[in-house]
Amino acid sequence: MAKERDELLDKYSVRVFKNRKSHITQLEFSDAPDEIAANTRAIPGIVTARGCCYAGCKGVVVGPMKDAVVITHGPIGCAFYSWGTRRNKAKSSYEGEPNFIPYSFCTDMRAPDIVFGGEKKLEAGIDEIMQMFSPKCIFICSTCPIGLIGDDVQAVARRVEEKYGITAVGYSCEGYKGVSQSAGHHIANNGLMRYVIGKGEKAPKTKYSINILGEYNIGGDGWEQERVLKKIGYEVVSVFTGDGSYETMKNAHLADLNLVMCHRSINYIAEMMKTKYGIDWLKVNFIGVGATCKSLRMMAEYFNDPELTKRTEEVIAEELAEIQEDMEYYKSKLKGKTAGIFVGGSRSHHYQLLLKDFGIDTTIAGYEFAHRDDYEGREIIPQIKADADSKNIEEITVEREEGYKDRYTEEELAGMRAAGVELDTYGGMIRDMKKGHIVVDDYNMFETDQLIEKYKPDIFFSGIKDKYAIQHGGVVSRQMHSYDYSGPYAGFRGAVIFGRDITMSLYTNAWALVTPPWKTAPMLEGSLGGGK
Ligand code: SF4
Repeated sequence: MAKERDELLDKYSVRVFKNRKSHITQLEFSDAPDEIAANTRAIPGIVTARGCCYAGCKGVVVGPMKDAVVITHGPIGCAFYSWGTRRNKAKSSYEGEPNFIPYSFCTDMRAPDIVFGGEKKLEAGIDEIMQMFSPKCIFICSTCPIGLIGDDVQAVARRVEEKYGITAVGYSCEGYKGVSQSAGHHIANNGLMRYVIGKGEKAPKTKYSINILGEYNIGGDGWEQERVLKKIGYEVVSVFTGDGSYETMKNAHLADLNLVMCHRSINYIAEMMKTKYGIDWLKVNFIGVGATCKSLRMMAEYFNDPELTKRTEEVIAEELAEIQEDMEYYKSKLKGKTAGIFVGGSRSHHYQLLLKDFGIDTTIAGYEFAHRDDYEGREIIPQIKADADSKNIEEITVEREEGYKDRYTEEELAGMRAAGVELDTYGGMIRDMKKGHIVVDDYNMFETDQLIEKYKPDIFFSGIKDKYAIQHGGVVSRQMHSYDYSGPYAGFRGAVIFGRDITMSLYTNAWALVTPPWKTAPMLEGSLGGGK
């Protein structure tokens, strides 16, 4: 009986009901697999929390690369609102390494540029950038009007490469492409694969070299992961893309293993690198203590070296000992609470495991821009039918590059999979949720209000747009694109910071203590019909 879900849907008109019922699932008390519709167009006017394709390409994937200039080709609003809203931390890792993260570069397109074309303005802007900053790589990200007027950003990129001898990538990632940010991730992945990965020749120096894919270093998460990985003895060749760089990404094809954090935004590159360079990918999750230990152990199993396994266990034991007391304290404060979580891609799944470490149950969860495999697992992919919107995004085909071979035979990989190493796979969010709980795809403000009313979670982890609406309803909300200026939340030490932050939020929930004026008195006073 999907009581809460049915009550919610009951309020909709027939047309909206038909659409939304397939995007909201109350997990069934049966053995049949739960299904959900995803990655389809939002209903116009329904106030979705999604972003646009440009936001996915510029804001999520290429924006966090510190030594590359990302220029927004379009009006200033698109550039301003994609500047710093996700708190991707970055710092120079050696003397003189450029870090352009604090800058926002934009062609600031105006009416005459829209009428007469903006390619000249874009090239002039890039000349200015070259004079002032001399980057080795420039990404040009197109916004809606650019696609409408037909500026050829790829041609501009080729001219820039020829003129300056740098790498330039033109992205046709106009906001209206696809149905959400997800289209922009795919487009960004294609460009990195075509123009960046494989350009370098700097081989790793150690036996265990890895890339971390889909880690955007929000609040310094990536740095905490690197600290632990380096302590064990891994060499991190490159990170895609938080605190990442063009210089290191060029050498990514020379690493031994790809770790995939955010499955949705980067699985395309993981797949293409497997085909082209024979690099296996492993789905990991460094959000949550239990999840971090599991990921580290799977990595050790992959490399299959007793020395590395021993070191992994030593580091896990050291790290656990360091946080044990704090974790126990926060667990004593948080156990039995309930949470809702609605973020972009894999985070809504990752954070449920960290919440479980504290004894918090997630009763509502969903994604802004996921595909069905992010909910139901990758085995569902053959059943997903491509529609006109997904066909609109280029699928690039790669072939095995000469000189690269698979790290293991298929039999060896099958043996690892049988032992629980999550290679080339992702089980999705639903299987970690309990029966009766709600999974909602691409929710809107009405559904947010209704779900909070019905499930009454103690805390809600949200995106940028929905945070304050939830908070005004008296429920504590933490924004998961900025961590409300805290973090890191990843790994062992991050778990303690997370426990501290949500304990503080829950025990000082100012919003729940305030009685809004409209609850006690009418807000409007007036008269009808002209009388007094
Ligand atoms: S939808 Fe278009 S106009 Fe709006 S932010 Fe995205 S690119 Fe800019």
